[in-house]
Amino acid sequence: MEIIHISAECYPVAKVGGLADVVGALPKYLNKLGHSAKVVVPGYDNAFSKENQFDLVHKGQLRLGWFTFTYSILKEATDKLGFELFLIAIPDLFDRPNVYSYEDDTERFTAFQVAFLNWLTETNQMPDIIHCHDHHTGLIPFMISHAPIYGHLKGIPTVLTIHNGQYQGWFDFDKLHYLPKVETSRLGFLEWNGVINPLASAVKCAWKVTTVSPSYLNEMSEKANGIENLLRFERPKSLGILNGIDNDVWNPETDPMLTHHYNSKTLKKGKKNNKAILCEQFNLDSNKPLFTFIGRLVYEKGADLLPEICSIALSRNPNEINILILGSGDPKIEHSLSQLTHFYDGNYNAFIGYNEKLAHIIYAGADYLLMPSRVEPCGLNQLYALRYGTIPIVRRTGGLSDTVIDIGDGGFGICHDQTSVFDVNYSITRGIDLYNDTKLFDTTRKKIMQIDHSWESVAHEYLTVYQSLKR
Ligand code: ADP
Repeated sequence: MEIIHISAECYPVAKVGGLADVVGALPKYLNKLGHSAKVVVPGYDNAFSKENQFDLVHKGQLRLGWFTFTYSILKEATDKLGFELFLIAIPDLFDRPNVYSYEDDTERFTAFQVAFLNWLTETNQMPDIIHCHDHHTGLIPFMISHAPIYGHLKGIPTVLTIHNGQYQGWFDFDKLHYLPKVETSRLGFLEWNGVINPLASAVKCAWKVTTVSPSYLNEMSEKANGIENLLRFERPKSLGILNGIDNDVWNPETDPMLTHHYNSKTLKKGKKNNKAILCEQFNLDSNKPLFTFIGRLVYEKGADLLPEICSIALSRNPNEINILILGSGDPKIEHSLSQLTHFYDGNYNAFIGYNEKLAHIIYAGADYLLMPSRVEPCGLNQLYALRYGTIPIVRRTGGLSDTVIDIGDGGFGICHDQTSVFDVNYSITRGIDLYNDTKLFDTTRKKIMQIDHSWESVAHEYLTVYQSLKR
């Protein structure tokens, strides 16, 4: 089958979070199964675009409301990512370094989606499936189903995967003229609560909707930033498929970002060596348990509570634990986490920013990874932690509930029910006790490294979805 994935992010082309990891891995594993999966993302002005070779395969011109814009389709020349990668370069809209958070994101991502459909049309492409990821590509199922100009694409099944339902890409109807003409009777397929809602529109128009874990699908019927009723209504065409991890990239035995490689047999020594490097770099004591956090510093992740969680944990357990934070996001949280370094020097440190290599070293060198998330559609961090023998401490929500079982219930992690300072600190205390029970600590770490969350098996689940839609 020929499957085109369209997304705002794709590792290693452009990454903000887990969306990139999924779009950078699933197509590769579909191709390994003998299919032809391709990826289309915007052409950002970033390191990947500058450091790689591309062939110009198409050029076009379009209108977005009153503006005219040109776009170029650039194909990565070597297919080294394990799939054909196409960048849609649009001058003035995407030749910027970041993926999101510009005032004109509506214009940027609408132009991207219209250019994609125009390219398919002008080059007579008829893939078997178009797989859209999150709201940035959510207008595509609507345009294919309801815009007469794309009527010839109507038979192509569309799949929407919701990686994060909090963000929906809302914009007002005064920008309706950005989209190709549709009959007024079709506008209801765009609308939710009085505005154009690209995520809601995709939930209505895509042939199939998937979420990145089964529990997240259930939770979204109750809490989905205003689209709960819609998700309940569309439940018959929806299913949750837990994300996999790319074992080619996330493998402590071969990871090029680590100095000390290890597997489940050499875990004790391997993790000790990685921890020593990390502790030296961040002025921490490698004889104490190392609790870490990696992620976006936002409310969804429970990051607003981290400063208080850390100060209570460090005050209650003086000189007994280390904490290391890697993240960026809300400037207030960033500031509070940086300030703590002055109070707990030698036991605490924070790296404010995005650093892929450091994330790998932390997964390898840490003892515990904290995930006090309020919302976690799947969560990849806990899956990477498991693979690197780092015990996850998670709030039971979304994909965290689906992937981490508490050690007290015969499992391998530490779980709590609330995103609260109390619950997380209680879990940290349990972590200290487990660390001191050396035998149980080591057998647990060995066990988690052997859990299989690879894309090999998950790719089959997506294929079953695609095949159920075959024309
Ligand atoms: P989300 O997509 O909601 O941010 P996920 O758990 O699905 O959360 O994926 C997060 C991904 O982003 C992981 O690969 C994680 O290692 C990475 N990540 C998040 N923040 C940082 C950071 N500051 N530096 C390096 N990697 C990060």
